[in-house]
Amino acid sequence: MQQFENESSRPFTMGEGELCCGGVSLRALAEEFGTPLYIYSADQILQRAQLFRSALWQRTHTVCYAVKANSSLAILRMLGEQGCGFDIVSGGELARVLAAAGEGRAAEWAARTVFSGVGKTAEEMDAALSAGILMFNVESEAELRLLENRASAAGVRARFALRVNPDVFAETHPYISTGLSAHKFGIAIALARHVYVSFATSQWLEPTGVSVHIGSQIRQVEPFAAALARVLDLVQQLREDGLPIRYVDAGGGLGIEYADAHFDAREQVARYVASLQQALGDLDVHLLIEPGRFVVGQAGAGVPRVVYNKHNGEKKFVITDAAMNDLIRPALYQAHHEIVPVVQPASAAVEIVDVVGPVCESGDFFAHDRTLPVLEQGDLVALLDAGAYGQSQSSNYNTRLRAPEVLVQGGKARLIRRRETYLELFAGESLG
Ligand SMILES: *Cc1c(COP(=O)(O)O)cnc(C)c1O
Repeated sequence: MQQFENESSRPFTMGEGELCCGGVSLRALAEEFGTPLYIYSADQILQRAQLFRSALWQRTHTVCYAVKANSSLAILRMLGEQGCGFDIVSGGELARVLAAAGEGRAAEWAARTVFSGVGKTAEEMDAALSAGILMFNVESEAELRLLENRASAAGVRARFALRVNPDVFAETHPYISTGLSAHKFGIAIALARHVYVSFATSQWLEPTGVSVHIGSQIRQVEPFAAALARVLDLVQQLREDGLPIRYVDAGGGLGIEYADAHFDAREQVARYVASLQQALGDLDVHLLIEPGRFVVGQAGAGVPRVVYNKHNGEKKFVITDAAMNDLIRPALYQAHHEIVPVVQPASAAVEIVDVVGPVCESGDFFAHDRTLPVLEQGDLVALLDAGAYGQSQSSNYNTRLRAPEVLVQGGKARLIRRRETYLELFAGESLG
């Protein structure tokens, strides 16, 4: 058995007055690679993925890491080498998985990849059929018709699951809740059987699984079990109908703790897996799960530098060189990220500030009215729990270069993405 250090949920710890990741000083990394930058603990990413795999050891399963949480090639490679599969939502993410695999392993990694998303295009389907992915998680009848058409054109059978919408409510931010009939996702579970049966005679479609994904950042395990129980009823009906359903894809969405440092990831995974197992009972299926945030979220921090302090009347602003284009979660989901100084301040004084970026939007903030140690111009801070939906949601808005990424593994740091250049930004443009 592998040993896990589980004292804290985060791989960032204060050592000798400085924040470190796996023994590497964040200040040193910021000096070497500039700011803002993203720093990740490879060790934690691997541990988190392993938590799911260990908890599921009794069952045939594949952990299909949700690529959109953090799609950097080095991270995909690391997880693929550990045996993880992938959950992709675009042709671009398929290209990433294949690039991370490298030529020799592309077919093998594709065979552990499921393709989710409500708007797959013919081109994306063609690429995924040609790569030989495990299955398509199909979200509408129209999509299933197009998939049949593309499979026929390619002369291959397409394995598919319907992503069902179980109409289960999960407490999370409305923008990341997906399992209610009011959402655009999936096919109403009451209609799914009819859809499976009406395509059952297709020569080009192979009904392989049933999938569900009820949302993201879900902290309770009960909604997962409730959704899975509904899926399993459907699996039994489909098998009675003579369909060879072998896979059940329980989706992703297990939440992390953004505020409290003492979150027990291992216990959370144990509770999650136990509730899935209970719902599954002794049903003979290959279980797929698609965790994203839980694997990479707490492993990463964004590290900006304070460029200015500013007072507007009563209000104090700390302006950093990172902005909403680097980490949009506060603006998009009113998300909370802990902010800590990278170097322990000499004084214990605190003040109430807004931490903001330089982008020309009032939505460009990391914290409102936050009590923080007094930060001076030039100080480094860490935006914690930024490993998921941080860099992967970053953009070039305001013609800002996307931040570099550093991966720390076994006490050593390596640059896995360098900062962009302006020339790269303009490369696709012409002057007319
Ligand atoms: C986004 C997504 C996931 C991952 O969600 P997390 O909350 O990051 O675990 C898994 N499956 C599907 C279909 C998704 O869209």
